[in-house]
Amino acid sequence: MSSDFNNRPSGWNFDNSYARLPQDLFTASAPVPVRDPQLVIFNSSLAEEMGLDAEVLDGNIGATLFGGNEIPEGARPIAQAYAGHQFGHFTMLGDGRAILLGEHRTPEGRRLDVQLKGSGRTVYSRGGDGRATLGPMLREYVISEAMHALGIPTTRSLAVVTTGEQVQRQEILPGAVLTRIAASHIRVGTFEYATRLEDLELLRALAEHTRQRHFPGLSESPAPHLDMLRAIIDRQASLIAKWLQVGFIHGVMNTDNMALSGETIDYGPCAFLDTYDTHTVFSSIDHQGRYAYGNQPQIAQWNLARLAETLLPLLDTDPDVALSLAKGAIEEFPSLFRAHWLAGMRAKLGLFNEHPEDEKLIGDLLSWMQNHQADFTNTFRSLDPAVCQDDHLMDWHQRWKIRLGEQSQSAASAIKLMRTSSPSVIARNHKVEEALEAAVIHGNFGPVKTLLQILSDPYSDNQEAEAYRVPSPLGRGAYQTFCGT
Ligand code: AMP
Ligand code: MG
Repeated sequence: MSSDFNNRPSGWNFDNSYARLPQDLFTASAPVPVRDPQLVIFNSSLAEEMGLDAEVLDGNIGATLFGGNEIPEGARPIAQAYAGHQFGHFTMLGDGRAILLGEHRTPEGRRLDVQLKGSGRTVYSRGGDGRATLGPMLREYVISEAMHALGIPTTRSLAVVTTGEQVQRQEILPGAVLTRIAASHIRVGTFEYATRLEDLELLRALAEHTRQRHFPGLSESPAPHLDMLRAIIDRQASLIAKWLQVGFIHGVMNTDNMALSGETIDYGPCAFLDTYDTHTVFSSIDHQGRYAYGNQPQIAQWNLARLAETLLPLLDTDPDVALSLAKGAIEEFPSLFRAHWLAGMRAKLGLFNEHPEDEKLIGDLLSWMQNHQADFTNTFRSLDPAVCQDDHLMDWHQRWKIRLGEQSQSAASAIKLMRTSSPSVIARNHKVEEALEAAVIHGNFGPVKTLLQILSDPYSDNQEAEAYRVPSPLGRGAYQTFCGT
């Protein structure tokens, strides 16, 4: 370790509880040093939130650390093992190009995973090179931070470092490492892996760890594993409802990309809708539309069923009882999802209370949007009880106004609720591409930083954001995204 590094402590406070779990769940493994680490983006405000010294880290020390060339004191780097159903097919996986440095405790006592993504080969790399390229790492940084600003649970991004190495993809691209911060990296696929080891005590240890970490309130429960399953299901129902409400399409909801903490994880081929169409798919490899916008709730439920299967031996010693408990929990997903979704959609329409006709009112607006190829974000943002934006929407607008009049809250508070539930700016595909191109091709990080700035305040009517509100000229179908490479 360099003296420079040791002389300037940066506030790290590691306590690595996952590395104390049974060893079959991970492999001790250090990041592979890179040739010439350069810190190109650093999230000072997140660093400060974490209790780190942002000034110390924003420079060569950060480059060395976030490139994986130095290990911070107290870290215990590991690659985590996991499995996953990818497009429905089971595979053994694991961190093939990521290293968990450890768990940093913030001054408030939060426990956060610090992970380097793109940090070199591990025992789980299979045929891969263990590396990541600049464009996709910047993309994850931008979209995860945009999701956070929208108020959606997500992993965060602390830094992107370029490696000074070239990475061979379809073309040769600059290498990069992303530092990802997460409540944990425990996935549905982590439990799928643990189950395959056929060691009940190991499975129990993982379940206990997950419960203590993410659901500490359940420690007194007489049926802690069932209650944890139900709590995980509810968090996912809430999360997917939030995605739909901002037009987010994850793009690759494999079971290894679903975090039990309830955070959005793994920003590969994700993108936001422009025109509203529930069939929208941007991912180049999702030929069947498995992960289309409107399919996300069903896929979440399918993934959760895979999780429930892994927990069966912990739910009851009688397999029939265990199965019926698990089934009961999974069958609750649609109604939980519907409740979260309705609550969020009511807010988007300025509705504070509930009415049996609300679902139809919401559904009719969405059908109109689908039929008229309306822009999802801009339609919601420009809804105004005083002005009907389109002749064909007159009848709906009239019904909405009557419904608003039936609640006791003022028109002003309804508008305020709407403005805090429907963003004025999202990460539009063409704006993201433009910014990434400037960075990757021209080495100009200005546009990425401007984009991050705009997306950090998505519910205000900022004048400077005007150009970021225009729907993608690429149009639907023309835009394609790729799995994180
Ligand atoms: P993802 O599609 O990013 O969720 O990755 C799926 C699996 O492939 C994970 O186990 C990754 O660690 C692994 N993987 C992806 N890219 C690489 C790479 N370049 N080298 C090694 N493993 C990789
Ligand atoms: Mg993944």
